[in-house]
Amino acid sequence: MVIATSREELSAARQNMRGQIGFAPTMGALHAGHLSLIERAKKENDFVALSIYVNPTQFGAGEDFARYPRKKEADIALCRAAGVDLLFMPENLYGANEPIVCAPLIGASILEGEIRRGHFDGVLTIVTKLFNLIKPMRAYFGKKDAQQLWLIQNMVKSFFMDIEIVACETTRENNGLALSSRNAYLSKSEKTDALKLSRSLFEASRLIKKNETKTAAIVAAILDILQPLKVDYIAIVDREFNALETIKKGETIILIAARVGATRLIDNMWI
Ligand code: AMP
Repeated sequence: MVIATSREELSAARQNMRGQIGFAPTMGALHAGHLSLIERAKKENDFVALSIYVNPTQFGAGEDFARYPRKKEADIALCRAAGVDLLFMPENLYGANEPIVCAPLIGASILEGEIRRGHFDGVLTIVTKLFNLIKPMRAYFGKKDAQQLWLIQNMVKSFFMDIEIVACETTRENNGLALSSRNAYLSKSEKTDALKLSRSLFEASRLIKKNETKTAAIVAAILDILQPLKVDYIAIVDREFNALETIKKGETIILIAARVGATRLIDNMWI
């Protein structure tokens, strides 16, 4: 595995990789969810590249940029064991007075975008920079961050970027909890409370299997399970993030965001 920490090192390493490159951008503190992206990329490409960069522009004021978990040595070992060919860990990817990529208003102002103003501009800007540096043929993203995935697919299409975006299933603990680097913030009792998120989604899926179609009834059932967590949103949308009144099987995503203590968690289910 080649580790590149500068653009020069990256470019030298990249020149030695002739073939299809699958790429997974991450912010590190790697877990089995990240490893599932690597595994999929390994199956579908000649080489796998992974970046670790805690991107400052996607964090708002008062968010957890400074304390976001950083686990350099453990991450390097995990990448090596998983068969990553190129690990890009840059110090800084920004200069002064730079243009940014703006997420479309409709996508950036709902759900995560409404609560985290400017977040998706930061995401799209760093993903564009990383795509230009790594030049992958395919890029792997988790459905766990469904709104991010949708906006990246939209950007790639709109800017005629010649990259295939591969959507990967959410990896969960056996108890249902969606893996996230932010789970590291949770105390033992908070981890039990955090299970309410996945439990509420499983209950929603059970209701839908029993032919409940009204989204208002499903939202009420989810809210009931999430109590007493502070809920940021419960949304039931189609694949283009339009709110739905009735479930359309094969076209629906149920998204929730809630706070467990000081930690903000998101989860979703694709129906
Ligand atoms: P992050 O390091 O949190 O920015 O995530 C990097 C990539 O891993 C993103 O495409 C995420 O959607 C994806 N990811 C994060 N958690 C999971 C998970 N539990 N299962 C699958 N993919 C995930």
